[in-house]
Amino acid sequence: MSTSVSAQLSKAVKQMYLELPQGDKVQAMYVWIDGTGEGLRCKTRTLDYEPKSIEDLPEWNFDGSSTYQSEGSNSDMYLIPVAMFRDPFRKDPNKLVLCEVLKYNNKTAETNLRNSCKKIMDMVTHEHPWFGMEQEYTLLATDGHPFGWPTNGFPGPQGPYYCGVGADKAYGRDIVEAHYRACLYAGVEIGGTNAEVMPAQWEFQIGPCEGIKMGDHLWIARFILHRVCEDFGVIVSFDPKPIPGNWNGAGCHTNFSTKPMRDAGGLKQIEEAIEKLGKRHQYHIRAYDPKGGLDNARRLTGSHETSNINDFSAGVANRGASIRIPRSVGQEKQGYFEDRRPSANCDPYAVTEALIRTCLLNETGEEPFEYKN
Ligand code: ADP
Ligand code: MN
Ligand code: MN
Ligand code: MN
Repeated sequence: MSTSVSAQLSKAVKQMYLELPQGDKVQAMYVWIDGTGEGLRCKTRTLDYEPKSIEDLPEWNFDGSSTYQSEGSNSDMYLIPVAMFRDPFRKDPNKLVLCEVLKYNNKTAETNLRNSCKKIMDMVTHEHPWFGMEQEYTLLATDGHPFGWPTNGFPGPQGPYYCGVGADKAYGRDIVEAHYRACLYAGVEIGGTNAEVMPAQWEFQIGPCEGIKMGDHLWIARFILHRVCEDFGVIVSFDPKPIPGNWNGAGCHTNFSTKPMRDAGGLKQIEEAIEKLGKRHQYHIRAYDPKGGLDNARRLTGSHETSNINDFSAGVANRGASIRIPRSVGQEKQGYFEDRRPSANCDPYAVTEALIRTCLLNETGEEPFEYKN
């Protein structure tokens, strides 16, 4: 594993240059998902004006043969701006620009799952689908070992770390604080953060966001986290089970509701949605990590607050189930439910699309598969 040399450069010296006036030019950093479906890439261009909306941003291109996205002979790929944020690193008036990727023939790239997600979301706008995703992640030192863990061994067993405070319990809070504030500055709908069960593991929540906005905001929040971690010389991992054994994995619980579910008596609609989900478990598992369930099979063992990947279950306040109805929702008989299956490295476009297809568009059908933990 490499060492982080750029983190060692003086950030105070860098700040001196960042304080120089930039004239009437604006720096726009274009961000996209690469051919792994997990990695993010970015590059910057200068604009002579401040873009006020997404329509003001030019399309762009990049070399897809260097991002696992195309064959060398037809390597030009197109970047289509889809969401714009304030840039918390270069600050106003500079921008972060999330992009969809199209191939040379204008067809969507294989890992551009936003395109079909958007079409599905457009079919159900009248239901006002809301999502809230709980992104868990693990901080790693540049040697790949969890941040702050003893070099030749393990920290004390899990117990004191979840929502913990103190130098022996919270590993890497500086990064969490920097990321939280950077998201607020950017205009990302971040709902909160907490320390997780495994030391060096943390969570932030995005949402509630309606429709396609869920995926857009989660991806840019992940980008901001990678970028903050780069400054600190720490790596962020979204691996669903970074440390095998008696250590919690990392998920991306997805909370979901429609207007009828949020209205009085909506528990009925919630129960109907869960009924449909129960008949299509494998379809969802396939959509909930980039390897069609194989990544998540390491995490969804039935232990460590997970359900087994091969079983579907649902229950009020049950954190060992596939689907949990929060206790308050069960009591008030309206609200939302939580799908606990998505992996930390899921593509939120794939997860939210699958939920809409099954729960609202009444799609059925399965290709059964037995996963090995
Ligand atoms: P947990 O108890 O599972 O750790 P969190 O507080 O971490 O719960 O996350 C709850 C999530 O539920 C948040 O992302 C929030 O935005 C989301 N949420 C709250 N209400 C709704 C709703 N009506 N529809 C969809 N998501 C919701
Ligand atoms: Mn949570
Ligand atoms: Mn959590
Ligand atoms: Mn949760």
